Amino acid sequence: MSIDLSGRVVLVTGGSRGIGKEIGRRLAGAGAKVALADVVDEAQIQASADEIGRGAIAVSANVTDPEHCSAAVSRVEEALGPIDVLVNNAGITRDGLLIRMSDADWSAVLDVNLKGVFNMTKVVARGMMKRRAGRIVNIASVVGITGNAGQANYSASKAGVIGFTKTVAKELASRGVLVNAVAPGFIDTDMTKALPESARETLLKLIPLGRLGGPGDVANAVLFLSSDLASYITGQVVVVDGGMVM
Ligand code: NAP
Repeated sequence: MSIDLSGRVVLVTGGSRGIGKEIGRRLAGAGAKVALADVVDEAQIQASADEIGRGAIAVSANVTDPEHCSAAVSRVEEALGPIDVLVNNAGITRDGLLIRMSDADWSAVLDVNLKGVFNMTKVVARGMMKRRAGRIVNIASVVGITGNAGQANYSASKAGVIGFTKTVAKELASRGVLVNAVAPGFIDTDMTKALPESARETLLKLIPLGRLGGPGDVANAVLFLSSDLASYITGQVVVVDGGMVM
């Protein structure tokens, strides 16, 4: 059975590059009408939307700002129709050991990775509840489960996303809205390119499948959770990490 998202409207935050862009590409490939929302300038997001094709649109929105989220959702709904699938993918890192971590780095990461998920979910959930249907997929991380030295802010934000996912899944289940998280391990994107070669080699040894993940590995899990094949799954965390955490 192939996955068919024909006619479904999908909003992906942080969608101009990396994992978000690949999610947009795969869901559009399954027939969805995709909107990419990002904080970068609209021309850059538009270039990613054009690359995806199939009528994908670009929306500029900083997920830390509730007004941006409302405006972005209105624009998407005017252009494409009511949102069927929200993918909260926007995320940042500001790594450093706890002792040296600044307040600014703590707050920036919590603001984008956790408050951003709250902001966008709150706006989109309202319509989904009225329509008694919808899917929300939040991109967490395995470090939200395991912790990771040097990432107190990031792992706290992703653990928060997991708790948020389970709570909202319980609140919205009776309205037909399913909410899940995907927790990627080590995925080869701009976010992880900054790591020194020695750190990459050490990490590789921890991955039973013997390779880094690609954005497509994460996008496939999102595609499944967005589809009718996942209609009895809510409140779950799907780990996509080549077996690193088990
Ligand atoms: P990425 O390449 O850095 O892409 C993240 C995207 O989010 C960028 O387009 C970025 O815009 C956007 N963004 C940042 N702040 C935003 C804001 N305030 N509002 C809207 N968009 C914003 O990262 P990635 O590797 O694809 O990661 C995507 C998601 O997967 C993140 O949530 C990340 O935490 C998670 N994840 C990644 C990995 C990994 O190994 N790569 C592992 C586990 C989880 P700019 O271009 O302006 O920065």
